[in-house]
Amino acid sequence: MNVINNIRQLRSWSSINRGTRCVFVPTMGALHEGHAALIRAARELAGQSGNVVVSIFVNPLQFGPNEDFSKYPRTLVEDLAICRDNGADAIFAPKAEELYLPDRSIQLFETSLSKTLCGASRPGHFDGVCTVVAKLFNLVQCDEAVFGKKDYQQLAIIRRMVRDLDYNIIIHGIDTIREPDGLAMSSRNRYLNADERAQAPVLRAALVKAREAYIKGGERDGKMLRQMILDQIAAEAPLGRVDYIEVVDAATLQTPTEATQLVAIAVAVFFGSARLIDNIELK
Ligand code: AMP
Repeated sequence: MNVINNIRQLRSWSSINRGTRCVFVPTMGALHEGHAALIRAARELAGQSGNVVVSIFVNPLQFGPNEDFSKYPRTLVEDLAICRDNGADAIFAPKAEELYLPDRSIQLFETSLSKTLCGASRPGHFDGVCTVVAKLFNLVQCDEAVFGKKDYQQLAIIRRMVRDLDYNIIIHGIDTIREPDGLAMSSRNRYLNADERAQAPVLRAALVKAREAYIKGGERDGKMLRQMILDQIAAEAPLGRVDYIEVVDAATLQTPTEATQLVAIAVAVFFGSARLIDNIELK
């Protein structure tokens, strides 16, 4: 496994590997079993003859001024072992100075899908995500890329970016990997104290119950579904502070319409300083 820290090395690795199918997994590190599943999926897609590239980069551009950029966990040694064990061929782990020059003056803006859900409470976040992913796509020169459905809005925005900017890259969405009690795995789960950790699985439980109400109970009223989830969080997780609960069209992330093919519910709830997100598709 090649560990690459700068653009010059990456470009020379890419030129040596030109013509070899490349599947890319962008991450911010602090890797867990969710990331491992993405790397294994990438390995499958690349086949034995292809290459799997994982990037590890805590992207300053996607953090707001009062967010957790400086305390975001950085565990490079453990991350490299997880990458190796799950079949990565190359790791790109640049320093921030390598990707962002002090006088840089060009970046991407997303003007529609990022205005709801997480984007509404994290202004500029998805502009930062698009900018870094576009740069990484340009650098890694991959044929396919793998993202988690856990970050549902991010996946929709990356698909839109690939469409709107004509990247010739196939985007794959991978199901969320969970702890045995249902909590979606996240690098931020380590911020939870014992009481918060005990209450956090309510997100999954409430989403599953809402899905049952939608599928088995025929409940189509988004407001009712939302209220059910809110009530369950209030009853079972008094430490949780709801940021949003939204019933949306999975493709547009807007309120479902007659044309909606797939409905999803997305939630974000603070437990202490940790902002946890989860979602469920109603199918
Ligand atoms: P992050 O390091 O948090 O930026 O995430 C890197 C990639 O891993 C993103 O595509 C995430 O959606 C994905 N990911 C994070 N947590 C999980 C999980 N529990 N299951 C599946 N994918 C995940």
